[in-house]
Amino acid sequence: MKAAVWHGYKDVRIEEVPIPVPGPDQLLIRVDYAGICGTDRHEYVGPNFIPTEKPHRLTGRTAPLIMGHEFSGTVEYAGENVKGFTKGEAVTANGTLACGICEMCEGGRYNICRKLGFMGVGDDGCFAEYVVAKADQVFRIPQGVTQRQAAVAEPLACGIHAANLIGDIKGKRAVVIGTGIIGIGAFYGARLAGAKEVLVVGRNENKRALIEANGGRYVNTAQNDLNDFVEEWSGGRLADVVYECVGSQETLDACIPICKPGGIIMVMGVFETPPVLDMNTLQEAERRIFTSQAHVHEISTAFEHIARGDIDADALITKEVELDDLVEEGFEELIKNASRHIKVVIRIPSGAESEESHA
Ligand SMILES: [Zn+2]
Ligand SMILES: [Zn+2]
Repeated sequence: MKAAVWHGYKDVRIEEVPIPVPGPDQLLIRVDYAGICGTDRHEYVGPNFIPTEKPHRLTGRTAPLIMGHEFSGTVEYAGENVKGFTKGEAVTANGTLACGICEMCEGGRYNICRKLGFMGVGDDGCFAEYVVAKADQVFRIPQGVTQRQAAVAEPLACGIHAANLIGDIKGKRAVVIGTGIIGIGAFYGARLAGAKEVLVVGRNENKRALIEANGGRYVNTAQNDLNDFVEEWSGGRLADVVYECVGSQETLDACIPICKPGGIIMVMGVFETPPVLDMNTLQEAERRIFTSQAHVHEISTAFEHIARGDIDADALITKEVELDDLVEEGFEELIKNASRHIKVVIRIPSGAESEESHA
C-alpha cells in the first residue's frame, strides 16, 4: 500500500509499504480521508515526538513510521477476538495508544495512560491506504455524517473533552484564544455545552465569518486591545473560562488578566518551548490552570453534533490534497499560509478507484 512515512524533519516520503496485519483485538481499516493535525505539522518541522533513538515507551517503535491519527474509513477485516463489526462499515478511531492496565486506563481515562502514545507518533498511523486500530477505540460513523465530515471529528472531540473537564460551563462566559482547529473545537465544545457567550480571539479577519455565523463573538487583536475588549464584552466581570489554544508564551500570558478571579484557564495548545507562567498573578486571584489531553469517548458526541447540523464540518475543511502531494500541498502550504486554514484533509481513494480515475 501507499503511505506517508516520517524519516526525519522535512523528510516525509510517500512509499510502498506492506499492508498492516491486525492483531486479535484490532480492525484493519481502509482509510478514505485523513486530517493533518497541528501535531503532524510539528512532526514535520520539529520538535518531534516520533522517537528516533530511544524506542517508544509503549510500542518500542522508532522512526521511520507512518504519520497521522485523524481519519475516516471502512472496515476491511476484523481480528479474531473482535465482535460486532462487519466489512464495509464506516468507522473512525481514537488514535490514542494506551497500556490498558495502569490506574488511569482501568478508570477509563486512557487518554492519560502512564505509557501514553499516539497512532502516527508512537506507532504507524493513518496517512496510508490502510491502518489498524484497537476495536474498543473504533467508532461507527452514523447516518447523516459523510466520510469527509467524519475526518474532522477527532479535533472537535478534543474541544468537547475540554468542556467536559471544565464541567460547569453552562451559562458561563468563555474566551478562546486561537483560531486553528483546536481553537475552533474549543469554541464549539463551549457553545454546545451551553456557555452563554463565547468570544474567539485571533489576529486577522480569516475566521470571523465562521465564528459569527455560529453564534460566537470575534475579536481581532491586530485592531483591538484584548484586555479592553474583554472588559467591555463582559461588562467588567472578565471571563469565567479562558482557553489557550495556540501554545505560545504570548497567548499564555494573555489568558491571565482576562480571566476573572477564581476563573479557569484551560490550556490546550502544544508549546514548542516551555513557557514561563506568571504564578503570582494567577495566585493573587485564585485563578486555576486546567489542561486537556486529546479525548476518550467524545468522538461519538462530535458525530451527533455533525449529524444534527450543530457543526458544519465541511466548512472546517479548507483544503483537500492527495497523498502524493502531502508534503508540498499539505505541510508546506500549512507553513506558508497557516492562518488561512482550519483543516487540510488528505483524500485517499482505494486502489481500484484511483486506477479508474486515471483511466
Ligand atoms: Zn489531531
Ligand atoms: Zn495505561
